Amino acid sequence: MTTRIVIVGGGSAGTITANLLARNLYKEVTSGKVVINMITDNPDHTYQPGYLYVVFDKVRPDEIVRKQKDLLDPHINLFVDPAVKIDRDNRVVVTKSGRQFDYDYLVIATGSRIVPEDIPGLKEGSYWFYDMQSALRLREALMNFNGGKILLSMGIPHKCPVAPLELTFMMYDYFKERNMLDKVQLHYTYPINRLHVLEPVSDWTIGEFERKGIKYDTFFNMEEIDPAKNVIRSMEGDELGYDMLITIPPHKGAQVIEDSGLGKNGWVSTDRRKLINTGYDNVYVIGDTTDIPISKAGSTAHFQSDVVAERLTSIISQGDTVIEYDGKVVCFVETGFDEATYIWFNYNTPPKPTPPSRMLHWMKLGYNRLYWLTARGIL
Ligand SMILES: Cc1cc2nc3c(=O)[nH]c(=O)nc-3n(C[C@H](O)[C@H](O)[C@H](O)COP(=O)(O)OP(=O)(O)OC[C@H]3O[C@@H](n4cnc5c(N)ncnc54)[C@H](O)[C@@H]3O)c2cc1C
Repeated sequence: MTTRIVIVGGGSAGTITANLLARNLYKEVTSGKVVINMITDNPDHTYQPGYLYVVFDKVRPDEIVRKQKDLLDPHINLFVDPAVKIDRDNRVVVTKSGRQFDYDYLVIATGSRIVPEDIPGLKEGSYWFYDMQSALRLREALMNFNGGKILLSMGIPHKCPVAPLELTFMMYDYFKERNMLDKVQLHYTYPINRLHVLEPVSDWTIGEFERKGIKYDTFFNMEEIDPAKNVIRSMEGDELGYDMLITIPPHKGAQVIEDSGLGKNGWVSTDRRKLINTGYDNVYVIGDTTDIPISKAGSTAHFQSDVVAERLTSIISQGDTVIEYDGKVVCFVETGFDEATYIWFNYNTPPKPTPPSRMLHWMKLGYNRLYWLTARGIL
């Protein structure tokens, strides 16, 4: 009998999981006892942390994009055909072209997406850097910026909770290099009572912002933007003006999740240790699309992929598993153009940012190049 594994989503989590499964189950896959089908909606695979460097012209767009088929083990069947329905009761995924993929085990790895249209005026009035086009647009706007107030306004949840801090620190160095610090005022707002969801990171950020003269406000939840007047209003009733507005738009999970009734706003209810969809032992959920209250980050996706690949390998080859996810997340955080800090944490251990150093910055740059080995399941 053939065991059919279907992986929906060919981003970080889906790709790592698929490659690890193909390697762990090599004998079963090559003999046809296990079939791995990947369904994704894009023939290209983008290393999203690279957008940050595109903004400052530190990498070219083509350096952070690869063909998805080139990243996959040749024994994995790739279908570039968006999933439009996930039917857990009948164990089938339906795609846009009408194909039906029956499965014994399903891995949902459809990530998250930005929905700028959810805040009136945001699309017309603000810049962001969460896709290639917007990163290039921001790059050009910064090049042409001659001085004034730059307001950085964030909403949560969003993927990579440290990315807006990195952007702010890098922007500081960008204007320092251009001898413009006296002409530019950076002002950062965050929706909760601190500057980052994790308290130790927030405390550390406050120190760094005060040292650099970066202004900040908390409890600022974006409600609407008036691009004609250059003002942003918050749900708390505050109003701030700007010369340039940079935001992280609201995030949701993939449309197919909501359309299939799998979870509100596209977040799928997930057991935080077993990584299974609540109530469905044969459905795994990994990466940004889980509703687990931890960072939506590439490293989260990576460590969860290791766990799911090991769990499925044990279940398929031995009938059971005891492997669980401990909540591990690791992040190198750029604190400018030359230095970075580092945090790691899990369900039991809070993060503790280390003093920024050049070495950590080079480690982040090194990892940016090594990511393609991670995607292939090698690193
Ligand atoms: C600017 C920026 C900076 C970042 N920096 C960092 C960092 O420094 N460190 C870090 O750890 N993380 C960082 N991240 C976050 C990281 O990129 C994501 O958390 C990670 O990619 C999540 O992996 P995923 O597989 O869950 O989602 P994704 O990698 O987004 O993959 C989801 C996949 O699902 C596909 N898909 C969606 N809908 C469908 C459908 N209906 N049918 C089929 N396929 C579908 C998508 O096309 C995509 O290929 C950053 C992200 C951004 C945007």
